[in-house]
Amino acid sequence: MEKIVALCANRGFIYPSSEIYGGINGFWDYGPLGTELRNNIKAEWWQLMVRERDDVVGLDSSIIANPQTWVASGHVAHFHDPMVDCKLCKKRFRPDQVDPSDRCAENESGTHDLTEPRQFNLMLQTSIGATEDKASIAYLRAETCQSIFLDFKRVMQSSRKKPPFGIAQIGKAFRNEINPRNFIFRSREFEQMEMEFFTPPAEAMDWFERWRAVRMEWHKSIGLDPTRLHWREHAENERAHYAAAAYDIEFDFPFGRHELEGVHNRTDFDLKAHTEHSGKDMSYTNAETKERYTPYVVETSVGVDRCLLAALASAYVEDEVGGDARTLLKLHPKIAPFKAAVLPLSKKLSESCQPILKALRTRFNIDFDVSGSIGKRYRRHDEIGTPFCITYDFESEEDHKVTIRDRDTTTQQRVPIDGLLEYLATAISGDVG
Ligand code: ATP
Repeated sequence: MEKIVALCANRGFIYPSSEIYGGINGFWDYGPLGTELRNNIKAEWWQLMVRERDDVVGLDSSIIANPQTWVASGHVAHFHDPMVDCKLCKKRFRPDQVDPSDRCAENESGTHDLTEPRQFNLMLQTSIGATEDKASIAYLRAETCQSIFLDFKRVMQSSRKKPPFGIAQIGKAFRNEINPRNFIFRSREFEQMEMEFFTPPAEAMDWFERWRAVRMEWHKSIGLDPTRLHWREHAENERAHYAAAAYDIEFDFPFGRHELEGVHNRTDFDLKAHTEHSGKDMSYTNAETKERYTPYVVETSVGVDRCLLAALASAYVEDEVGGDARTLLKLHPKIAPFKAAVLPLSKKLSESCQPILKALRTRFNIDFDVSGSIGKRYRRHDEIGTPFCITYDFESEEDHKVTIRDRDTTTQQRVPIDGLLEYLATAISGDVG
């Protein structure tokens, strides 16, 4: 884990937020490469969940909603975590997350003297408008799905959909986590990719099973190590009271097996709760059969940041090439920050590379790297996961071909310049071994 965190900081993937002021616990900045990786993961999700389907549409709702939203959803009353404090060193923990190796600085024996658990609401509050009183309190959304429920009717009518259909959204969520930790795994500001699928009640379990299969395949398709992905069914006493079925997709992170995504059958709980609190009817009437019902909801909910961490953990490899140690990020080409790097063998050849760059950049994020020996440049790109290095040499001037080096196998191939775009398109969409 330390190696991944160091690589992320050194190579421009992820840094602590506001680092020059000492950072702020639970908040992270994504640098140039992290931003690309993140955007690629989100684009892959959107492609599968929205663009390739007739029955799912997208939404981008505001982060702050009418505070009644969070009363109706149950977050104001119930979105609590138990919290304990060490009476000696004043550190704060979630009781189930006290690390046994964590030592109390104020106790010679190193053991914390913990208080009884107290409940702590995880929603981040802010206030809206010029006055700061009870009426001005608002919340930064704790999950993106609530706005999907609020907008359900609008979206259904304006996009001419009817159940079964889904609404998908990618966006920031905020939780005042007691103990943000494990890098970007548990932070206070993070991003979710959520899809709520509205179905006739009788079809909900069937859709639940279908979405489970779709979601697991997606994780594999973006290169997460399949041997580290697992299903875990929620036990009866762990399930939200309204959930008819709940499974997590868990991943073997370097610090243990933890939740990556949740797939839940939320029944008609959310739409009914908002009907009750808003006074607006959220039911649906089938125009043909005249049957009226409140749709059931099958939810798939995954964190962008956890996904990105799982991708990095799956991709991080240390190996040897020609007797030299190298660090390699074996990211699936679909999500790699750069799809290729164009490397002129000599600075003198830089001008000749420009038309190649221009052509490839119409479709892909391509780096242009002129500094250092060619070997050094290969290593640099191995470390940030660039799947292909394209070397332009003096012979290229004559034969209009370039050498493509494969990141994982280090094998090299001579390819005509005017076939490059197609070569990359095929290589990127295909599966990597
Ligand atoms: P956990 O039990 O780990 O706190 P959760 O069950 O509260 O997670 P959900 O409310 O189901 O999480 O949220 C859906 C997804 O959002 C999670 O599977 C996870 O990928 C992501 N997520 C939730 N909380 C965080 C967080 N604090 N930091 C980063 N991602 C998060």
